[in-house]
Amino acid sequence: MIRRALLAMSRNGTIKHLATTAPGVGGVVTRFAAGETTESAVDATRVLIASGLFVTLDHLGEDTLDLAHADSTRDAYLELLGRLADEGLTQGAEVSVKLSAVGQALPGSGPKMATANAYAIASAAATAGTTVTLDMEDHTTTDLTLDTLRELRADFPSTGAVLQAYLRRTESDCRDLATTGSRVRLCKGAYKEPDSVAHQERADVDRSYVRCMKVLLAGGGYPMLATHDSRLINIAEALVVRNERDQGSYEFQMLYGVRRDEQRRLAAAGEKVRVYVPYGVEWYGYLVRRMAERPANLMLGARAILGSG
Ligand SMILES: Cc1cc2nc3c(=O)[nH]c(=O)nc-3n(C[C@H](O)[C@H](O)[C@H](O)COP(=O)(O)OP(=O)(O)OC[C@H]3O[C@@H](n4cnc5c(N)ncnc54)[C@H](O)[C@@H]3O)c2cc1C
Repeated sequence: MIRRALLAMSRNGTIKHLATTAPGVGGVVTRFAAGETTESAVDATRVLIASGLFVTLDHLGEDTLDLAHADSTRDAYLELLGRLADEGLTQGAEVSVKLSAVGQALPGSGPKMATANAYAIASAAATAGTTVTLDMEDHTTTDLTLDTLRELRADFPSTGAVLQAYLRRTESDCRDLATTGSRVRLCKGAYKEPDSVAHQERADVDRSYVRCMKVLLAGGGYPMLATHDSRLINIAEALVVRNERDQGSYEFQMLYGVRRDEQRRLAAAGEKVRVYVPYGVEWYGYLVRRMAERPANLMLGARAILGSG
């Protein structure tokens, strides 16, 4: 119930305006995001890489309905990739891009514009010596995002996709994408979706996640297992053994600020672990989805929004 209300809130413009203009909200970024600037993102990346972790960086923002805003988001990624290259960090860091942040939702030519912007980012990433993963958003954009993925992979084959285990279609999408050279991040899914397209019960989502992992780990691609769920991580480790996968032929992924102990434990055991690091001023939708995942984060977020935390 709370989760559904929060997920509805994550896309409510009025609440977003109230929350983001409240005094004292800056502190919130320090819990789940690296900070507001490119330099703060680069600094966090340096620290994580030095501790043996890998990184994917997300310039916060989504649902852009403004052309100039979409272009400035693209430019923020280009600046970030340049700085990562300057600092010699691109071996350990890639970027994650939400197509709605680079214009996908603009009326008319939005999807084309988003693909062009994502292409520019993928091209800059290749020049910098790294790559891009296309985040997955709500189910109305799944096909458009997979279309963009196909276009990008024609020139940048290492471009990664994200599939969400809560969607009923995802096991079939996993089969399509479990091919040589294909990088696929598997997550549970973070949006409010109707029963017609998505499993609603946690147990059903978890069972779907396991079925999808089986397909990805048995296939020829590079699975990126994004979850903080210890049970799923244990099952992943068993499936890795069963499929005779070498460490480094797949990776675990977790969010910045979430289960840092588990991130370190897996890395110490020789696993490749990548941390998803958001940065920037547009933290609202991201933070509300994190609150929806875990009631304990609700108080943290509420205190930050009210200016006392
Ligand atoms: C690297 C990465 C990239 C992602 N990309 C996308 C994407 O492109 N599209 C998309 O829809 N979703 C994305 N997600 C979010 C994902 O879909 C889930 O909403 C989120 O990861 C929570 O699911 P879980 O697998 O951790 O399991 P859950 O069942 O939510 O959590 C399992 C356990 O992990 C811990 N935990 C989980 N979340 C938190 C938290 N926020 N704070 C503290 N502890 C927590 C708790 O102990 C909890 O009991 C991504 C997640 C990760 C890790």
